[in-house]
Amino acid sequence: MTTTAPHRATETDPLRSVTHFPHWESATAEEILTEALSRWGRRVAIGTAFQAEGMAILDMAVRIDPGVRVFTIDTGRLPAESHHFIDEVRRHYGIEVEVQLPRPGDVEPLVQRFGTDLFRESVDLRLACCRARKVEPLARRLADLDAWITGLRRDQAPSRAGVPKAGIDPHHPGVIKLSPLADWNAHDVASYLTRHAVPRHPLYARGYSSIGCAPCTRPTLLGADTRSGRWWWEDEQPKECGLHWGPDGSLTRHNESTDRKEDLQGTNSDVPIKRS
Ligand code: SF4
Repeated sequence: MTTTAPHRATETDPLRSVTHFPHWESATAEEILTEALSRWGRRVAIGTAFQAEGMAILDMAVRIDPGVRVFTIDTGRLPAESHHFIDEVRRHYGIEVEVQLPRPGDVEPLVQRFGTDLFRESVDLRLACCRARKVEPLARRLADLDAWITGLRRDQAPSRAGVPKAGIDPHHPGVIKLSPLADWNAHDVASYLTRHAVPRHPLYARGYSSIGCAPCTRPTLLGADTRSGRWWWEDEQPKECGLHWGPDGSLTRHNESTDRKEDLQGTNSDVPIKRS
């Protein structure tokens, strides 16, 4: 297949601007995927860690286009179960999974200076680890895409309450971000997975409700917030890693009464990070 240079979306771009698709907010997940795969073909990809939402989207998308692109980020700290599950997904659907790795030059200085488990030391170091292992690899992967598809749902966390189904990715200008399940709830996802016999990540059976890096994720109690098993040692921090926030560390944090924007500045080789 002949590839062409990515066409970066802008709000005024008549071909790709989501303002051109006002119906997307009322469209079903299948309708969004059908239109996205038709419009962007190999220039749109599903970004997933193979949690329940990502698997529902992947299953839907493969039914629409078996050649759909799927990518994941291997942070280097994933549980063995995630690696095994990636291979199971490959076999089950007969698809390729593009695995994006962090750059050694981003990770090594952090580990050498602050240790392997630097994320326990402070929120800033945890965010620096997430930035090196997740956010930067995502930015590199998105560089050759016009659009990407996520499994975000609005009811997953206060920080996700305003997720649109389609929009210019505020943290990756020129790339359209689609969240076809934005208005689904956990029951909708579970029903879809059961109805279509979709493979499930094995850690759900061990009490996990959200699955990420091994040292930063643990099982949750029944009825607890689904993301409470992430970075559980941090107090009152948003349970986000930056994949859906700014790659430069610009974070939009939400609390019950006000929204405030806080910049965490620093480069991967210039830590600890200072709050401005
Ligand atoms: S989740 Fe933990 S190990 Fe994974 S990138 Fe973030 S801080 Fe690092």
